[in-house]
Amino acid sequence: MFVDKVRITVSGGRGGDGAVAFHREKYVAAGGPDGGDGGHGGSVILRVNDNLSTLLDFRYKRKYAAQAGAAGSGGLRSGKRGESLVIQVPRGTVVRDAESGRIIVDMSTGEDFVLAKGGRGGWGNGRFATATRQLPRFAKSGRPGQERDVILELKLLADVGLVGFPNVGKSTLLSVTSNARPKIANYHFTTLYPNLGVIYVEEGASFVMADIPGIIEGAAQGAGLGHDFLRHIDRCRLLVHVVDVSGSEGRDPVADFDAICAELKDYSEDLSRRPMLVAANKVDLLPPESDNLERLRAHVEALGCPLLPISAGTGQGVRRLVQTVAAKLRTLPPVTVYEADYVEPEAVPGDPKDLSVEHLGSTWVVTGTWLERLVSDINFSDYESRNYFDQQLRKWGVFARLEELGIQDGDTVDIYDLQFEYQK
Ligand code: GDP
Ligand code: MG
Repeated sequence: MFVDKVRITVSGGRGGDGAVAFHREKYVAAGGPDGGDGGHGGSVILRVNDNLSTLLDFRYKRKYAAQAGAAGSGGLRSGKRGESLVIQVPRGTVVRDAESGRIIVDMSTGEDFVLAKGGRGGWGNGRFATATRQLPRFAKSGRPGQERDVILELKLLADVGLVGFPNVGKSTLLSVTSNARPKIANYHFTTLYPNLGVIYVEEGASFVMADIPGIIEGAAQGAGLGHDFLRHIDRCRLLVHVVDVSGSEGRDPVADFDAICAELKDYSEDLSRRPMLVAANKVDLLPPESDNLERLRAHVEALGCPLLPISAGTGQGVRRLVQTVAAKLRTLPPVTVYEADYVEPEAVPGDPKDLSVEHLGSTWVVTGTWLERLVSDINFSDYESRNYFDQQLRKWGVFARLEELGIQDGDTVDIYDLQFEYQK
């Protein structure tokens, strides 16, 4: 099975919690705080693997999570970093944000890409050795890893895309010119998934050609095979339009040519303007009295497309076609690599009064968008910043609200990253 579009969920590992611990030593009554930091969570990383040619594996596994960081411990021991998860994808995989459809990255260059960052490990209370009595048992919890829903879409990287009706000889042409061995048979829709072949022109010169399942009329509207596959030639620099000129199937080559061009245009204006060469195939079967070849030539040349008569079956004209393609490619820009156009959404500040308080035993869990933002902006190792934080909580009535709800001295307040003991 060929799979070229999937939706997956990826999540970076959560950061480990910072430890709350106190130094203990014989004959020393009470040591300072020595809790270690939590380890950072692992990230989900995308990597190109050139041995892959489909996204099949993703059909069966939809969720990918990197390992969480371990919690810190006493004696200033940091927690172990979570292992990153490397996901292998075929070259040419375009990754989009599932919601907006915007491009996050085009995995064409071969560089690794961090798709979901692991969360930061929390600071242990050892970091707060200078902590004053306001936050005596203070440590930060690890941050959650980034989680995102993405669509992976394979858009092959080929210089040349073969287009044409089924059974016109596209696969045969690819097989006689390249190392590819596509399935060939005398019935329509033999080719069920795209094939790539490398064509060696001469020492040091080669190009990649893609054979996609035959396009039929209505394919661009999803009427049959072909529609989904057109995306594989989106990036091609040149199209080779294969037309059966022999009339062996009772078809008219000019009408066939126009029908395929209409399909391409329907699918994408951009693709329909791509430079095109016409390979008039099966000339070995052309009856001597037929004017098919000349009619097609006049028609396509008027549209600016050069025509080359070939027989993929006997090899006639094939070498010339390959050389003409290679010469044309030298004049064209390289294969398109898509620019990312996804922008991370700005965090919304939120309303300070928009808080929710949950009471669990002696712990008070306070949440709210504004509060979350505030917490992530504060550097708790800095006395001034801690004071500012404290003031903000007072100013916006967080403490008043907790008192109202019956908080007691010594209860624990849990605000996102941090937990501290409440003292009036
Ligand atoms: P595709 O559907 O366009 O990929 O077409 P195929 O490459 O599978 O070919 C369809 C049929 O046409 C096969 O039986 C081929 O052997 C035959 N064929 C392809 N090219 C030629 C040719 O130049 N001459 C002749 N006589 N037959 C050909
Ligand atoms: Mg084929």
